[in-house]
Amino acid sequence: MILPKIGHSPADYHMHTPLCKHAEGWPDAYAKAAIKCGLTEIGFSDHNPMAKKFDDWRMEYEEFPRYLDLVQASQQQFSDNLTIRLGLECDFIPGQESWIDKLSQQAGFDYLIGSVHYLEPDWAVDDPDPKWEKRWDGSIEEIWEKYWHLYRQCAASGLFDFLAHPDLVKKFGHRPAGELKRFYEPTIEVIAANNMTIEVSTAGLRKTCKEIYPSREFIELAFQANIPIVISSDAHRPEEVGADFDTAIKLVSDIGYTQSAHFAQRKRTLVDFR
Ligand code: ZN
Ligand code: FE
Ligand code: FE
Ligand code: ZN
Repeated sequence: MILPKIGHSPADYHMHTPLCKHAEGWPDAYAKAAIKCGLTEIGFSDHNPMAKKFDDWRMEYEEFPRYLDLVQASQQQFSDNLTIRLGLECDFIPGQESWIDKLSQQAGFDYLIGSVHYLEPDWAVDDPDPKWEKRWDGSIEEIWEKYWHLYRQCAASGLFDFLAHPDLVKKFGHRPAGELKRFYEPTIEVIAANNMTIEVSTAGLRKTCKEIYPSREFIELAFQANIPIVISSDAHRPEEVGADFDTAIKLVSDIGYTQSAHFAQRKRTLVDFR
């Protein structure tokens, strides 16, 4: 896909590497794909290592130096055509804040992404393993309640530069009955009060829910509350870099956004994208 020429394209700050064990393509392949689709700035944000063995879909702590080297090598290789930032997608888990803080000091990160995947120590809400399907039976309301409660804690933690895929809990199409504003409004309040940025992620379009994360209603509330956005692909393969950015740009422009956030050395600037 070639992006329309509308001034600066938003940066795509959410992409993974094979170090997390469920993505393919090394950083140079992502960088080439980014240049091909007209992006001028990207960032890597692989799943953060944990202090000890935790699950099978993140880089191990022993691989962390290799991650930093890989990103640095691609920064140098593509410096003429592409700005490449160093990020990390961090699981927000209450009680693990000091670990994230420690990791953040081990490299010159441009940004950290805060994500809520785990609602329980052994269960990530986006885990596609069919063994978790039954868990939703009769519990959608409760799961949404828990998810958004954690998301607000993540937003208020002060650990992160932007918040990933805000309504990831809808990934498999499970939505409770009634107005979803009851989850969105208190969350928007916390995000705004903490001067946080949210991600508008096209990854949802590739999942069962077939919808950008977050919903249009959530983005509208965010716009009214002056909350900055980034647009991300959450690419796990080079072909996904910049995926559906035209759709996302159209959606957020329609709502009123004209700027997206850029990050360098954990400082945010807002840049016009048209
Ligand atoms: Zn992933
Ligand atoms: Fe994630
Ligand atoms: Fe991701
Ligand atoms: Zn992600």
